[in-house]
Amino acid sequence: MIKRPLAAAALALCGVGAAACGGAEVSAAGAPAPSASLQVDRPAATQDQTDGTTGRGTSGPGDAETDITTIPGTRTAAETTAKPLTGKVVVIDPGHNGGNFRHTREINQLVDILTEKKACDTTGTSTNDGYSEAAFTWDVSQRLAKLLRAQGATVKLTRTNNTGWGPCITERAAIGNKAHADAAISIHGDGAPPSAHGFHVIMPKRAPGLPVNKVIAESAALGKKVRDAFHEGTGLPYSTYIGSKALNYRSDLGGLNLSTVPKIFIECGNMRNATEAAKFKNKAFRQRIAESLAKGIAAYLTGAR
Ligand SMILES: [Zn+2]
Repeated sequence: MIKRPLAAAALALCGVGAAACGGAEVSAAGAPAPSASLQVDRPAATQDQTDGTTGRGTSGPGDAETDITTIPGTRTAAETTAKPLTGKVVVIDPGHNGGNFRHTREINQLVDILTEKKACDTTGTSTNDGYSEAAFTWDVSQRLAKLLRAQGATVKLTRTNNTGWGPCITERAAIGNKAHADAAISIHGDGAPPSAHGFHVIMPKRAPGLPVNKVIAESAALGKKVRDAFHEGTGLPYSTYIGSKALNYRSDLGGLNLSTVPKIFIECGNMRNATEAAKFKNKAFRQRIAESLAKGIAAYLTGAR
C-alpha cells in the first residue's frame, strides 16, 4: 500500500502488488463501526410463506376446506419460478467509506486477519480530480443491489451510507458469514501508476487455519464467472499489472481470509489511469459495471457453468 505524505496522510492509496485497495478490508471484531448495520430485503416468497402458515394456524379444528385453501407454498412456488434468484442471498461490500478520512484513529486500529495484523479499514484511492473510490464503490453497489433484488435475491450491504467510517474488514467478512450468503463480493477501484490499466478479480488463497479454506473452490468458480461477465459487459481489458487473465489469488485480505461463504474482490480498474477514471465518473458506465457484475453473480448462483 502506498501512503501519501502531508495533508493526505489519511489517504492511504491502494498500491500495486503489495496491497490492492482490498488490502485494508478487514475489521476489528472488538470495535464494531457505527455504519455496520445491515440492509435487509426479504423476498416476497418468504413473506407469502409466513402469511400462509399464519392463516393455516388460525383456522379452526376440522375446518378442512380452510386448510386446503391456505396451504402454504402455492404462490411461493409460482414466484420462485418467476424470479431466478429467489431464495439466494448476496452480500455486497462497497469498499472503504466516504467518512474514513475523518476517522484515522478508528480505521488505523489493527485487526487480526490470521495471516497478519492489518488496519481496520483504509480511505481508498481516488481519480486525480478527486472522485473517491468510496463514492464509486457505493454507487456501483447500490446499482448492483437493485439489479439483484429485481431478480429475486435477498441482498445485504456491509454499510448503509457513504458518510461514516468502516466497518473494519473483519466485520465486513462477518456480515457475509452471518447472512449465510450464497455469494459475496467486495467492490473496489485500484490506485496503480497511471500507465497501468484494466480490471482484476481477487480470490482467496489457501493458508493454514483460514476459515475461507472450505470455500476456496466455490470462490474461484464465482470469480471466473464474474471475470467473464465483467470483461464481456464492460469491455475493460484484463489488468496489465496484476494477475493472469485478470485472476489473482491472495491470503493477505481479511475480507477473504475470514469468509466462510464464497467471496471475491473486484478491482474494477485503475482510478489513476485517465481513460478508466473518465469511465468510472460516467453514470451510464457505472450502470454497465453493475449489470456486468449482476450477470456474473447470477450465472454462478444459477449454476450456469
Ligand atoms: Zn479499495
